[in-house]
Amino acid sequence: MTIRDRSRTAKQGQAAVILAASVILSVAMLLSGCSGEARYAACSFISMDTLVEIKIDAATPDAEAVLKRCRGITEEQRLLYDADDPASALSALNAVLDGKAAAVPADLEKVIAAAAGVQRDSRGAFSIFLRDVILKWKSAGTSDTPPEREELAELLPDPSSYAEYVHGALTLPAGCRRIDLGGIAKGAAEESVVEYLKAAGASYGILSFGGNIAVFGEKPGGGGFVIGIRDPDDGRKTVGTVELDSGYVSVSGDYERYYEIGGERYHHILDPADGYPAESGLRSVAVIASDGTLADALSTALFVMGKERALELYESGKYEFEAVFVTDGGVSATPGLEGRFEPSR
Ligand code: ADP
Ligand code: MG
Repeated sequence: MTIRDRSRTAKQGQAAVILAASVILSVAMLLSGCSGEARYAACSFISMDTLVEIKIDAATPDAEAVLKRCRGITEEQRLLYDADDPASALSALNAVLDGKAAAVPADLEKVIAAAAGVQRDSRGAFSIFLRDVILKWKSAGTSDTPPEREELAELLPDPSSYAEYVHGALTLPAGCRRIDLGGIAKGAAEESVVEYLKAAGASYGILSFGGNIAVFGEKPGGGGFVIGIRDPDDGRKTVGTVELDSGYVSVSGDYERYYEIGGERYHHILDPADGYPAESGLRSVAVIASDGTLADALSTALFVMGKERALELYESGKYEFEAVFVTDGGVSATPGLEGRFEPSR
């Protein structure tokens, strides 16, 4: 048996943003362990503009209360990173980013430091500077015409410029007055929930925050958790599976969310060089890492970089991760996944 992310349709501004499954978890062993019944407790809810699904050992002390708290933690996390919510910590920070160094609230430090680091190390493929460009895409649905390339170019700082993040203070380059953390927030939130679940005594957990999967603990029946990477063209099929004892799998793909404008689809991962949907030859990329925040940022970065540049970053050893690349031509994985990645026939 499998669980599958369900699709939903969301309205963001006028442009419809469609969410769809990117990963499929095989959890057969959780339902029928060899030694009788392996029971789990589960919950699902919408937060951070995506479907969140959590499964834990039913024997976790106060399992139902623990799951309820997971929802609370996710909402608290959203209130840190949601640039569209005026009440969020990020909105408060954006309000004071005016070209001078602004103090970053402690709650945002880890994520902003990680985001600024990945931005540099990906040579700008991952960018926190896209807030105004994203707003343009969201409002493009109203006129039903895609934004002009010139108007997007005006909203982008020089591609060779980076944010300075030193001693807890953030300075943005000229031409950028606010930031977006959409490419990293879900991974950070999921990581907070995983930390809580471990502390609460869950013997295992399986979490899905849209395209971000996390697994930890002793899988009932033994063996690793098997995570299916979906076929970009068919949500019922997988291109392969990755077996994982614990950690995070973050998938960024061109089919996951998109703006529908004038009958055309424009996917939501933008190339910071021009503000248009990235076309790097990848249909999707899955990043496997023990750090959920980095896994999320890196999957967005690698999707924009394309396979060749992604492999350069992999080989540089700057970050510890493995990856699965899906192109129209096929599927391939980094060497560290040998024996753990199984392509579908
Ligand atoms: P998903 O939201 O489907 O999990 P990602 O993790 O790849 O996908 O993040 C995409 C989100 O990140 C976008 O909705 C937008 O808010 C933001 N974003 C888009 N392009 C980039 C980029 N090049 N770098 C960083 N963030 C981006
Ligand atoms: Mg991401």
